Amino acid sequence: MGKNDFLTPKAISNRIKSKGLQKLRFFCQMCQKQCRDENGFKCHLNSESHKRQMEIFGQNADRVIAGYSEEFEADFMELMRRSHPRARVAAKNVYNEFIADKYHVHMNSTKWYTLTEFVKYLGKTGKCRVDETPKGWFISLIQADPLEEIGKDRKAKRDRAERDEEQRRKADIEAQIERAQKYARVDEGPADMPQGGELQRDEADGQPLKIALTTAAPDRPHGKPPIAPKLSSAFSSDARATLQSQSEPVASRPKSKLEQLMEIDKMNEKHKAIRAAASVPANTGRKDEPWLAEGIIVKVMSKALKESGYYKGKGIVNKLLKRFVAEISMLDGGDVLQVDQAELETVLPQPGGTVCVLQGPYRGCQASMVGIVEEHYKANVRLINCKQAGKVLSTDYEDVCKVASSS
Ligand SMILES: [Zn+2]
Repeated sequence: MGKNDFLTPKAISNRIKSKGLQKLRFFCQMCQKQCRDENGFKCHLNSESHKRQMEIFGQNADRVIAGYSEEFEADFMELMRRSHPRARVAAKNVYNEFIADKYHVHMNSTKWYTLTEFVKYLGKTGKCRVDETPKGWFISLIQADPLEEIGKDRKAKRDRAERDEEQRRKADIEAQIERAQKYARVDEGPADMPQGGELQRDEADGQPLKIALTTAAPDRPHGKPPIAPKLSSAFSSDARATLQSQSEPVASRPKSKLEQLMEIDKMNEKHKAIRAAASVPANTGRKDEPWLAEGIIVKVMSKALKESGYYKGKGIVNKLLKRFVAEISMLDGGDVLQVDQAELETVLPQPGGTVCVLQGPYRGCQASMVGIVEEHYKANVRLINCKQAGKVLSTDYEDVCKVASSS
């Protein structure tokens, strides 16, 4: 039999002797050890194990005490709720019930030195109604109104739902702005072309809203990132919702006035966001990559040059002054200007005209204009004077530009 065996005569006699409640002041909370008398407690205080425990305690005394206080309060309140949910009872009696469990958290290990202090604390924090009488302190539990509790629950739920809705709306609008910006570039250029010799796109196609709805655009050439699926679903989810409500008109309840107003508000916000995104200057998306080339015909989009009459006028790029700045001579009058590429736009010739490829692996190649695929905002061109001559490319509008000699 081992020394610490449960069934040794010593262990049994210890258990017999330690029956019932013993002196609280001979209890060591850190070691959870109850000593029977002063001498035993003294011995315990000098023991190895107790000293180890006290070292742990010394490292973070405040936290240990706070932990015991919390535990003490929770246990005490639990007892109150269970045993005296409605009665007004003497604090002393509750405490006596509380310490009947030999391994309760002892009060001398909490931040409260006396029961009175603890009772006052309960009163101050609104956990119990407390009052002092000649017979000592009395406490009674403050019953939370169940109806009030339910109301609180509901309010919290509603708040949460509103927050979620707000976040969804924000994400929705952001996704739409991103989509609109992607398309704004493709959309703006040709729509602004003056009437005349160049290929013309229907003005109505320039509406930003319509562009936003074309989700099934094919992959772009030149390694541009494909449209992320989550973006393209920003609109299709709306579309799905519409479809659903159309397919089951009986199930959908009539909308309240408030809901209708909210919907209108939402739509307005959407449109505003899209319009704002679409009015971004056409070339911002590729400001960082130079596309200018000598000999191409470009359109001046600088609003600053409006007064001098150059706005929307065309010119030939004579030479590049920097990577992004060209010296152009206007076709109309022959004036020579220096313009940044951000304020220039490409020009597309009619089918059969010669273009220069400005972007991608065929940059610098000449090609012949085949035609325009309006619904995809693409221009088809056939390469002429390079190794891949004869190959037909499908490029973005602004990736090719009319060459001067072809006019
Ligand atoms: Zn101890």
